[in-house]
Amino acid sequence: MEIPRRSVLVAGLGVLATACSGHSSDASAPAGWVAPSRIGIGSYPADPTTARSDPTATGLPSVTLWVPGPGELVPACKVAAVRRVEAGGSGGQTALQVIDAQYGGLLADSASVLVVTRSWSTATGRLTTGGHTYDVRLSRAGASWRVTAVNPSRPGAPATHLTPAARRVLAEDRITLPPAAAADIRSGRVHDSVLTALLTVARTHRPHVSVVRTGHPLHVFGTTRLSDHPQGRAFDTWAIDGQSVVDPRTPRTPVEDYMHAVAAAGSYNVGGPYLLGAAPQWFSDDTHHDHVHAGFTT
Ligand SMILES: [Zn+2]
Repeated sequence: MEIPRRSVLVAGLGVLATACSGHSSDASAPAGWVAPSRIGIGSYPADPTTARSDPTATGLPSVTLWVPGPGELVPACKVAAVRRVEAGGSGGQTALQVIDAQYGGLLADSASVLVVTRSWSTATGRLTTGGHTYDVRLSRAGASWRVTAVNPSRPGAPATHLTPAARRVLAEDRITLPPAAAADIRSGRVHDSVLTALLTVARTHRPHVSVVRTGHPLHVFGTTRLSDHPQGRAFDTWAIDGQSVVDPRTPRTPVEDYMHAVAAAGSYNVGGPYLLGAAPQWFSDDTHHDHVHAGFTT
């Protein structure tokens, strides 16, 4: 009994050590997930795909329903999208926590809501963590919104070789990445321009990233123009230094400072809740009321 037990324990510690080397800032245990407080930012475990090999772990963490805070545009639309994802992700052996819900597009009668999640499963007899970002499409009928499609992120397999910039972003605890965004970077399909810009802005800010490559519409919503996201040339930030972009209690200055910082770091196309200059360097619309977009040409 002793030998197998010890080897399991050592294996488990190895896995946990690997997980903690990723993002120490949010490497708390699943049960320690902090319910949304002032702005909806909690701490949550770091590694999205690591199977935690703790043989004693049989329970799922408790999760909280996402609720729209003040400042949200069309909260009924976001709630309809989020509830669909929450309902699909929680069952007897699974639990799902919504980290953020941001618009992928918001028009008068249609919308895309990108629901960023972390999830847990005990289906294999041990607790595993993962998580997708879902592009939820909706259409409006009067005052209510109806879900018409749910498209989960598909980041692909991890690359056998990552650039130094990709490895540094994955190891940088000043950058908070949800599971799908981390998997995007591990896939090796995100351009170094994006990754080096993230590292640059992380010197002066702590970005909470929402979406990188997958889980985003192929086209700029409502147009036939290809988005930079699916091509690995963009990242979205939903909170900066612990303050969510959408929260009206977040002062304008730090959001503007961050938008200037991503432009200075090389983004040719920065969108957010405030219009800071002329296109294509700057843009602002309802879709970007809740996050800062940074696009890159290469
Ligand atoms: Zn974006």
